[in-house]
Amino acid sequence: MENRPDLYRQQIEQLKDYAFFFIDVNGMIQTWNAGVEHLLGYSEAEWIGQHASIIFTPADQAVTLCETEMRVAREQNSASDIRWHRKKDTTEFFANGVINAVRNSSGDLLGFTKIVCDETSRKQLEDSLIQANAALENFAYAASHDLQEPLRTIGSYAQLLLRREGNQLSSSAQEYLGFIVSSVSRMSTLIQDLLAYACAGVEKEPASSVLLDLAIEAAVSQLAASIEDSGATVTHDPLPTVAAEHSQMTRLFLNLISNGIKYRAPNRTPCIHISVAANDDQWTTIAVSDNGIGFQPEHTGKIFEPFTRLHGKEYSGSGVGLTICQRIVERTGGRIWAQSKVDEGSTFFFTLPRS
Ligand code: ADP
Repeated sequence: MENRPDLYRQQIEQLKDYAFFFIDVNGMIQTWNAGVEHLLGYSEAEWIGQHASIIFTPADQAVTLCETEMRVAREQNSASDIRWHRKKDTTEFFANGVINAVRNSSGDLLGFTKIVCDETSRKQLEDSLIQANAALENFAYAASHDLQEPLRTIGSYAQLLLRREGNQLSSSAQEYLGFIVSSVSRMSTLIQDLLAYACAGVEKEPASSVLLDLAIEAAVSQLAASIEDSGATVTHDPLPTVAAEHSQMTRLFLNLISNGIKYRAPNRTPCIHISVAANDDQWTTIAVSDNGIGFQPEHTGKIFEPFTRLHGKEYSGSGVGLTICQRIVERTGGRIWAQSKVDEGSTFFFTLPRS
């Protein structure tokens, strides 16, 4: 059997889908494998002795990115090289690569090994998915926005007919018109919620530092009428600053606080409290608790799905509010979940990135 170093060398030389090579401390390429030819188009003679920046695009060469990568690898032992690179025939491909520092036993730098593979198809697929998603979000936004106008017209003419001509209509015709009016109003709520859902996906403001206390105050002032009608108390601990969008955070608290009021227990004054459940350097976990009617714990996963409603028609709504909350939280990279006990109350938890 051949000795191990020879076996390793042969394996690397024959590796076709990965360009693997050694670069000296000055950035000059010292070795070649079959992958260099297969991926980049260089024969051994054309390759050895070139500067490692040969595969960088002219724009990246201009900002000496190759040298920056080597400096990072020298300081941190390794640097990733995930970017567009150039082949010998000047076509570009999306590379997933890594450069590692090689040292002798005393720790002196001998050079670097670099391994690169071609991930152009994955990158193109990823880019087209991002584009398709953005197009879908814009479509949902435009569709729900444009649907509102004809619906408003149907609603107002049905109401006009009832008001002006109602006494000339039979009682069943009046009843049918009533159904039209209430269905239009229900559909309008649904469309507005869908619009809010689409808006939560379309980037409006870039993420910035948001004081959660201010987002809660904004939500509470929008809910002033229902807080007063129900006698609800909404309290909160001092909350941290997070990296998010103010309007989205306000919407998140608006949906959760208004649910706490809507699903209140008939025999108790609704109390909603917002606190910090956990904190670390990167994430904060916020809890929004209420003392309402609660729901069966087995439904905790389902309630975030669109149009899922656990309670009867006496509670207004479209079942999209929590879906919007989930979307808002997930867009910041966080997650949302709930705990509940029937007749005792519910707590909604979500994580947000600290700013
Ligand atoms: P909506 O309130 O419009 O129905 P949501 O998406 O906000 O829609 O909530 C989905 C369902 O989850 C509600 O219909 C209700 O059954 C349940 N739910 C949400 N929040 C609460 C809460 N605080 N207490 C009890 N049930 C809740």
